[in-house]
Amino acid sequence: MQSEELTLLEVPEPEAIRDWATENGILILAHSYQDGFLQEAAHFVGDSLELARKAASAGADAICFAGVHFMAETAKILCPDARVFVPDMDAGCSLAESCKAEDLIRYQEHLTKKLGKRPVTIAYVNCTAAVKAACDIICTSGNARQVVESVPEDQPILFVPDKHLGGWLNETLGIDMILWDGACEVHELFSVETLNVMKAENPGSIVLSHPECPKPVRDASDHILGTAGMLKMVKAAQGETFLIGTEANLIYRFEKEAPQNTYLPAPGASCACNICPYMALNTPEKLWKCLHERGPEVTVAAEHMEPARRSLQRMLDIV
Ligand code: SF4
Repeated sequence: MQSEELTLLEVPEPEAIRDWATENGILILAHSYQDGFLQEAAHFVGDSLELARKAASAGADAICFAGVHFMAETAKILCPDARVFVPDMDAGCSLAESCKAEDLIRYQEHLTKKLGKRPVTIAYVNCTAAVKAACDIICTSGNARQVVESVPEDQPILFVPDKHLGGWLNETLGIDMILWDGACEVHELFSVETLNVMKAENPGSIVLSHPECPKPVRDASDHILGTAGMLKMVKAAQGETFLIGTEANLIYRFEKEAPQNTYLPAPGASCACNICPYMALNTPEKLWKCLHERGPEVTVAAEHMEPARRSLQRMLDIV
């Protein structure tokens, strides 16, 4: 017991953690918003869509998901036979929390009466399994346009839970979806005033913002892209300076995969960068412990599994 406790205290290098997980049949997935150590320890790093696809195709018996709770739930829904572990069960998400399934169902009923027909509900993937089960189709920031465009024009659409992503889609597609009043607390912190100061200090820089940012920040940006779209753009660029308007840990991945450019985190209103406090709950120590203890384990209520899987599958069939 003593030596086991000692082993857990002594966290090995990321490569050794990955090798240990491989030998013990555990696939480590890490979101791009995790810090560099956790990204290095993972077998695969990606955004929500990439990790959802990887979870669905990997055929793993056990997955350790370094991300937040709804992402681990998504892996469980797509791989029902796999056990899914998380380093910290408290790693939640303010955006997912802003939309409770019971409130969504009540609002859907209200809109159905008001409109005389049930609206199609599109849920951004940053939501709980119960919300995925209550909606019709899922989207990510990278494929949201295609998903919205797949709905017949005469159908009213309710978009949940992110009002900024929904607002950006309404603006760019010239439509009028009904928006849930949710937001990500990290992206809401970006400030157009401080961004403009930073742009002036870095003439010629290119501003990339996530669609979860508020409209004034989006309007001051050169490109509005999901994380996969940002990665594609920086890989194709040579010697540019990018101001990055999303969670600052993504820069670790950019510097690794496209080191020819310079990356600066766009500032929040009162801090130099924006780090997701929920993602930050996952630490190397907790990852190492989670792998050894095979827990905590994420489960999804039986009644949510199949309807949530259908909503995810509709998205995967489109993109
Ligand atoms: S960055 Fe925002 S949307 Fe992403 S997990 Fe953190 S709180 Fe949720």
